[in-house]
Amino acid sequence: MGKQLIITGAKLFLGIDESVIEDGAVWIDGDIIKYAGPAAAMGDADPSIETIDVGGQFVMPGMSECHAHLSFTDGSPFELGSPTPESATISAVRSSRIMLGSGFTSALSFGSVHKVDITLREAINAGTIPGPRLAAAGKDLGVTASNVDSGGTGGLSQITDGPWNLRQAVRQQRYLNVDIVKIFIDGEGVSNHAPRDELAFHDDEVAAIVDEAHRRNMKVATHSRSAAGVKQAVRAGCDYIGHANFLDDEAIDVLSEARDRIFVGPGIAWEMGLVNHHASIGLTREWVTDRGYDEQIEASIKSVGMMLKADIRMMVGGDYGISIAPHGTYAKDLEMFVDMFGMTPGKALLCATRDGGAAADPKGRVGTLEAGKFADLVIVNGDPIADIKVLQDHSKLSAIIKGGVIYRDLVNDMTFEIKAADIAGQGAGADKVLEPAQ
Ligand SMILES: [Zn+2]
Repeated sequence: MGKQLIITGAKLFLGIDESVIEDGAVWIDGDIIKYAGPAAAMGDADPSIETIDVGGQFVMPGMSECHAHLSFTDGSPFELGSPTPESATISAVRSSRIMLGSGFTSALSFGSVHKVDITLREAINAGTIPGPRLAAAGKDLGVTASNVDSGGTGGLSQITDGPWNLRQAVRQQRYLNVDIVKIFIDGEGVSNHAPRDELAFHDDEVAAIVDEAHRRNMKVATHSRSAAGVKQAVRAGCDYIGHANFLDDEAIDVLSEARDRIFVGPGIAWEMGLVNHHASIGLTREWVTDRGYDEQIEASIKSVGMMLKADIRMMVGGDYGISIAPHGTYAKDLEMFVDMFGMTPGKALLCATRDGGAAADPKGRVGTLEAGKFADLVIVNGDPIADIKVLQDHSKLSAIIKGGVIYRDLVNDMTFEIKAADIAGQGAGADKVLEPAQ
């Protein structure tokens, strides 16, 4: 039995369905939830257990960022592979802290530069730095002239061709202890050599990657914008589909058949960033339209509607970590799920918690507040059901709890400055604050 903590006075969203319990309580034992539900049904607790009355604040499961790029440095989207391993690592330490401080207690990586994710995951798990539980990816895996082929430069991609070479690449990623193999099935409007409706792999190449990854206990995440790209990915057995902007009826049928094992992340932060912040990266509005991004956003809205109807599990997240969609703005995805995709706030929250949690931790230990799950919670001074945007305001996140450990001000207190008022009048205590660490 670990350290115990009881939270009372909670407006409680368990993440099991869209309902909210008005007078809820959560009992935490070590890093595990012992009870979550109506306060009246909790049963008697030893009065010596520390209890926090949160005074009617909203308490919900920690969210999962399921298309994370923690090693991206908030730089130009056209120079993702440029940072050195050292600068990408320093940036990743910072973005891990920001992600946890933004209420995301789990992250599913959709690609890392160099080997940053793996080192990052180890440091987070060891408690050396704060950050989300991380399913780590390696470099983006692609074939020659795929979207991630940058002509042999940069730390973003690993390029090879043919089923056996791709199997070897997956094995190399296994050697590095990668959890997620990220592949690029189709392309991108900004790419001259790999447009979004061209499939880079042959079917047998994708099948080889998935077979090799699964036999070595890894998952496969894909960039698939086109209906053909989604179908190729799902039929080959990929686990996580990124984007899925353009779906047709056949793609929905293929997704429906795989409903119990597949997750789709429709996040459109990338497109919205190009539309809204194109000038900051030297693009004109006309160029963005010419490259098909308005059409892509419209198609995404339609495709998400089709997936909602077909009850396909969707994840929150998508390409945050670039200048036009920086770290810390992850919860913008939930606003887009509501305002653009027409979900209820409760449904968007379920995508961020229950469904994203099931994707990020296949062992089923995160995403809902239930006895036996990890004690990963967000306490919000506001009501996301009434206004989903409140989750974007870090000052409204009273505390983030991950594995029973309470964090606060991770984002707003990035400078590590000590204010004079904090040490004034503390007598001997003041010396302690200024003492070097032992
Ligand atoms: Zn991405």
